[in-house]
Amino acid sequence: MANKIPRVPVREQNPAQRAANFEEVCYGYNANEAMLEATRCLDCKNPRCVTACPVGIKIPRFIERLKEGDFSAAADIIAEDSSLPSICGRVCPQETQCEGSCILGIKGEAVAIGKLERFIGDWQLEHRTAEHAAPATNGHRVAVVGSGPSSLACASDLAKMGYKVDVFEALHELGGVLVYGIPEFRLPKQAIVRKEIEAVRRLGVTFETDVVVGRTVTVDSLLDDEGYDAVFIGSGAGLPRFMGIEGENLNGVFSANEFLTRANLMRAYDNESDTPIYVGRRVVVVGGGNVAMDAVRTAKRLGADATIVYRRSETELPARREEVHHAKEEGIEFRMLTNPTRIIGDERGWVREINCVRMELGEPDESGRRSPVEVAGSDFRIECDAVIMALGTLPNPLIASTTSGLETTRRGCIAADADGRTTREGVFAGGDTVTGAATVILAMGAGRRAAKAIDEYVKAKNAKQ
Ligand SMILES: Cc1cc2nc3c(=O)[nH]c(=O)nc-3n(C[C@H](O)[C@H](O)[C@H](O)COP(=O)(O)OP(=O)(O)OC[C@H]3O[C@@H](n4cnc5c(N)ncnc54)[C@H](O)[C@@H]3O)c2cc1C
Repeated sequence: MANKIPRVPVREQNPAQRAANFEEVCYGYNANEAMLEATRCLDCKNPRCVTACPVGIKIPRFIERLKEGDFSAAADIIAEDSSLPSICGRVCPQETQCEGSCILGIKGEAVAIGKLERFIGDWQLEHRTAEHAAPATNGHRVAVVGSGPSSLACASDLAKMGYKVDVFEALHELGGVLVYGIPEFRLPKQAIVRKEIEAVRRLGVTFETDVVVGRTVTVDSLLDDEGYDAVFIGSGAGLPRFMGIEGENLNGVFSANEFLTRANLMRAYDNESDTPIYVGRRVVVVGGGNVAMDAVRTAKRLGADATIVYRRSETELPARREEVHHAKEEGIEFRMLTNPTRIIGDERGWVREINCVRMELGEPDESGRRSPVEVAGSDFRIECDAVIMALGTLPNPLIASTTSGLETTRRGCIAADADGRTTREGVFAGGDTVTGAATVILAMGAGRRAAKAIDEYVKAKNAKQ
């Protein structure tokens, strides 16, 4: 029976070797491996994997085509719901979404849906570069703020509908967190992210970098002076949070955002680069999410002894399971149920050690996770010369504060309905700037829903005129 076949293992770079380089950890499946893994899918009548996918990719249908070796048809099926399969196949939390709902996972191992999606996405990038010529224009223009996954998804859907789409990005590189947050060893920039962006460009979307909306131009001026029919805001959540403990201003304390941006975007890992970063010999990363895992593994690759300090237990770690597993294989130390209370500096103002307390788990909090409670008198210190805070991020208030009639929530996120409609007519928003820090696939889904809502809005407005 198909489900008796064990999950096809995926080839990975050797842990000892990869802990010292930035090349991709996972090699992915080749065609034979992917087709063999595809035979494990039971093609369920009510596929729970589809319901669990935030964008509803028709998973059994694309796997069926893949199994038959018709990769092109499989790519077409994925494209109906996702514009970034090579990226999502690499970074989606499949274990809590599609694979977490796979019926095979109940008694054994789920179908490797993420790796199959990645295989088809990569196949498409390699074999279909000339397709998707720009469609005929419908005469309407939409401005898109930011170039992360929400914006890329929104821009490509609108372009396919015939809109003239202009993307305005604050940084000198396109891709948002895909480029400056998630490191090369998890998501190759040149081979994957830039190629997916090129596919969006081929649809006729134009990209302008170094444009800070709210400074260089405003959302108001894009609508009122530049004649755009609508604006989509996908500006993410790039404002780091700190703990507010003593010593956070010492030299050697970074936000994960700054650390990863310098490493990824400004090539700080490269000795030839003119923007090096201070790493330290012993680095403590505070936090337990994907950002913390990326920061700690980057620090390790830059030569440090790297430790995760997290206030809950391993069960509650919010990072993807695969990333925690990879981090452990690479020699990262995990100090669970540990909370920093003070960072202590030397006489020159540099980090010397971090004071922590032990925690135990109490009652569940509003997130459903058991909340950590400090164990009285359990103080201890960890020697370190750098501390990286990976405690989550919030949206930057710049756009909301420079756009008239745009309301925000108590957390500073742009207030928008499920289809991205904001309180300002003609302005739509999606991704992390609406939800707070979340995931690539949720951002992409929000961008796609907003594209549909923008189309409806523009058509309705024109019908009235
Ligand atoms: C280190 C790290 C690791 C992660 N790992 C994962 C993972 O493994 N799996 C997963 O699913 N998710 C992961 N995430 C989360 C995921 O990357 C985000 O949820 C997703 O990128 C959000 O997409 P977005 O389009 O909303 O915003 P972003 O990707 O943040 O893009 C926003 C873009 O808008 C630009 N911008 C901001 N303000 C302005 C302005 N005023 N004018 C013009 N442009 C502006 C920014 O420069 C940026 O390019 C990770 C995040 C980080 C930081």
